[in-house]
Amino acid sequence: MHSWHEECAIFGTWGDPEASRMTYLGLYAQQHRGQESSGIVSLHEGAQIVHKGMGLVGDVFHESDLQRLVGTAAIGHNRYSTTGGSLQDNIQPLSAELLNGPVAIGHNGNFVNAQAVRDELKKKGSIFQGTNDTECLLHLLAHNRSDDMIKCLQEALPQLVGAYSLVILTKDKLIAIRDPFGFRPLVLGQRPIGDGSFSWVVASETCAFDLIGAKFVREVEPGEIVSIDNKGAHSARILGKPQRLAKCVFEHVYFARPDSQVFGLSVYESRKRMGEILAIENPVPADMVVPVPDSGVPAAIGYSRQSGLPFELGIIRNHYIGRTFIQPSQSIRSFGVKIKLNPQSEVIRGKRVVVVDDSLVRGTTSQKIIRLIRAAGAKEVHFRIASPPTTGPCYYGVDTPRKSQLIAAQHSIEEIREFIDADTLSYLSVEGMMKAVHGSEKEFCAACFDGNYPTPINEENI
Ligand code: AMP
Repeated sequence: MHSWHEECAIFGTWGDPEASRMTYLGLYAQQHRGQESSGIVSLHEGAQIVHKGMGLVGDVFHESDLQRLVGTAAIGHNRYSTTGGSLQDNIQPLSAELLNGPVAIGHNGNFVNAQAVRDELKKKGSIFQGTNDTECLLHLLAHNRSDDMIKCLQEALPQLVGAYSLVILTKDKLIAIRDPFGFRPLVLGQRPIGDGSFSWVVASETCAFDLIGAKFVREVEPGEIVSIDNKGAHSARILGKPQRLAKCVFEHVYFARPDSQVFGLSVYESRKRMGEILAIENPVPADMVVPVPDSGVPAAIGYSRQSGLPFELGIIRNHYIGRTFIQPSQSIRSFGVKIKLNPQSEVIRGKRVVVVDDSLVRGTTSQKIIRLIRAAGAKEVHFRIASPPTTGPCYYGVDTPRKSQLIAAQHSIEEIREFIDADTLSYLSVEGMMKAVHGSEKEFCAACFDGNYPTPINEENI
């Protein structure tokens, strides 16, 4: 099996006359969490209707598809994965007909013991269609003879270790689940549908609710199973001993949209605080603060505010970059970055520039950006990263390269500075990052920065 790290968005709705359209919009708002494939499963008169495909939400669904996805309940999923192979079979939601009717599952996260569970299930006769970890849950449910889906889930989930926020659609329920560590976000809301009534909605991020006019009700709690049916919402727990909390701090650093509330905190505000603390920890005499757009913008605002240095859009981003573009036949230096980011020499020529980005992973993007900034005439380039050095891969649902490709896992900060050719380079401390999210390493997972993985990790099993 390949390494399997996914970034995903999930959405679900129950009791909405426009269920599939709301799901489409919910996925549209959460496109940043996954761009490789998208799918919606709706429920009509106890039967599932499925539409899935490779590509962006806007490309996968057409008016005719949404018309076909009838019913007042639906779930949807956006997926990004690093794995090649039989991609069509891995597009979520996964759906199957089980003993107690049709079941569809959308999963954000990663089961770290998927390979071991898969091997066991195969011994019992399970036939796997795809190569993804989510299918394990479907098979564990299929092996259960109970017709109580909540009971089936309570028996299946303790066998799976890792990160999972799930939306599940059965013949008579929408179920939303968050793993006991609370790695990935999952929020519950209500959308007014007239006559004082409302539909229930579930999403990875609150920005999906904003688009469809839904009201945020609360987070699904770590270890909670929320089931929604025509009688309302009911809460149950995942069985087993309580775990430590391990909310993903990287959601706040990079992954979530800044206009979302994640783990009860505004992502925009926490990113600004990361920038402020970065400025306190790593000041430098300079003329201006320039963000790497868009990911570095809130932190650069914070850095500018704290340091008193003016904030300037010294790099402009082209927002219309597709997945592919035709390269010129003769090589243009740094073409790949230039097509997306263009430094403004009028702004930065002759200046000492503090460049702020949210994270530095391989270092290759930063190296190219600095080359462009120097070519545009900057006198000095001081690179500031609004998170600590990324030293470990994520096994819980964020796509990060292997340790060998993480520059901070292999090199000192001075060596990285030299590689990216910055005049100075510094990072936010782990303590500073935790302060910015008003938390501690007891309740957040910061394994990609501090190496403290909350679950056992066997790299070969992932
Ligand atoms: P690099 O250091 O060249 O690998 O690229 C760092 C850039 O990638 C930063 O601007 C981040 O905003 C962005 N980034 C960090 N983590 C991820 C991720 N998991 N997926 C996509 N982009 C990322």
